[in-house]
Amino acid sequence: MSIYESLGVRRVINADARLTRLGGSLMPESVLDSMREAAGSYVDLHELHIAVGRRLADVTHNEAAYVSSGAAAGLFLASLACMTGNDQAAIDRLPARSELKRRVIVQRMHRIPYLPAVALAGAEIIEIGSEPELHPGELDMALDDETAAVLYVAGEHLSQGALPLHEVIEIAHARGVPVIVDAAAQLPPAQNLWRFTRDLGADLVVFSGGKDLRGPQSSGLIVGRADLIEACRMNGAPNPRMGRPMKVGKEEMVGLLTAVEHYLADDEDTRIARFETIVRDWIATLNALPGTQATREFPNEAGQPMPRCRVELDPAVVGFDASELARRLWGGNPRIAVKHDERAISMTPDTLEPGDEREITARLVALLQP
Ligand SMILES: *Cc1c(COP(=O)(O)O)cnc(C)c1O
Repeated sequence: MSIYESLGVRRVINADARLTRLGGSLMPESVLDSMREAAGSYVDLHELHIAVGRRLADVTHNEAAYVSSGAAAGLFLASLACMTGNDQAAIDRLPARSELKRRVIVQRMHRIPYLPAVALAGAEIIEIGSEPELHPGELDMALDDETAAVLYVAGEHLSQGALPLHEVIEIAHARGVPVIVDAAAQLPPAQNLWRFTRDLGADLVVFSGGKDLRGPQSSGLIVGRADLIEACRMNGAPNPRMGRPMKVGKEEMVGLLTAVEHYLADDEDTRIARFETIVRDWIATLNALPGTQATREFPNEAGQPMPRCRVELDPAVVGFDASELARRLWGGNPRIAVKHDERAISMTPDTLEPGDEREITARLVALLQP
C-alpha cells in the first residue's frame, strides 16, 4: 500500500498547473538520489550554501546565486537585501528598520498574490499606473530617496500595458535603484535563467525550484549581482536573522542544484514536441465526441511557451457544464485536476507522468460519451 493510500489520501493526476496546493512538481530520479545522498551526513551549512551558490551561478551564467525555500521566500529575501544591502549592523537591528529605504515600486498590472512576501520584509509596496498603459515618466517620478527596489513580474500574460523590463531597468538604474524580477514560473525557456540578469541587466531574479525545474518543492533560486546575493545570504538561514524561519536544508540545496543541472541538460525542443503530440491526441479524441470542442492554446496561462488543450462544452448536448465536468474529474480516484471556468476546462501536458494523458482521455471519454 502506498503512503498516500495508507493515509486515505487520493493520488492526483495533475493536468492543471505546477501548483503548490497539488504538490508542485515531481522530482526526477537524479534529484531524489542527490537528496538521499545529501541526507547521509552532516555538513557545514554555511559552507554548503556558498559552494552550491557558486556552482549554480556557474551553470546559469550569473555573477552569483542563492538557494531559498521557494520563489516567495526569494521575493522576501531579495526585498530585504535591497533594503539592508551588506550592512551587518542594519541586519542585526532588524526588525527595527526606521533608517532603511523601504519603498518597493510595482506596476499595477504586476499586482500578484505573492506580494505579501515583499510586505513581510517590511517593505512598503507602492503601486504605480493609473492609466491602461504605464508611461516611463510615472516610474521615474515614483523613484525617490526612500526607494529600495522596483519589482517586475515577468510573463507575457502580465505585460499588457506594462513598461517592458529593459525600460524599467534603464529608468531605475539611472536613479541607482535595483530591479528585482519575479520569474518564478518563467521556465521554459531555460535561457531565462540568465536572460533577465546577464542580457537585460536585472539585479536579482527569483525562480521557483518546484515548478518547471522539478527541484524540491520547498526550494527557490535567486540569481544576480554578487553584493545583493551576499545580502540575501546575510539575511537568510542558518543565520538567526529575519530569513531564519524560511530555512533551506542540505537536501534541498543539493536537490535544487541537481535539478538545475538536469534541466539544462534536457532537450527542451523534444520535450515541447511531446507536449504538442499529447495536445493533438486529446483534440482528435475529444472532437469526435458530441457537444465538445477542443482547441490548442498557446502560450499557456502562465505565459510559458507550451501548449494546452482547451475543451469547451455545450451543456445542452452534454447535460452538464465545464465546472461540473471538472468536479467529476476531481471526484474520481485517482483525482484528476484541470483548470476550468463555466464554459471550458483546460489541460496542460507538462505536469503529466508518462501514461497520465491516456488515463485522462479514458476518464473524459467515459464521462462525455452519450
Ligand atoms: C509560483 C509563484 C511564486 C511562488 O513560488 P514558490 O516557489 O511556490 O514560493 C511567486 N511568484 C509567481 C509569479 C509565481 O508564479
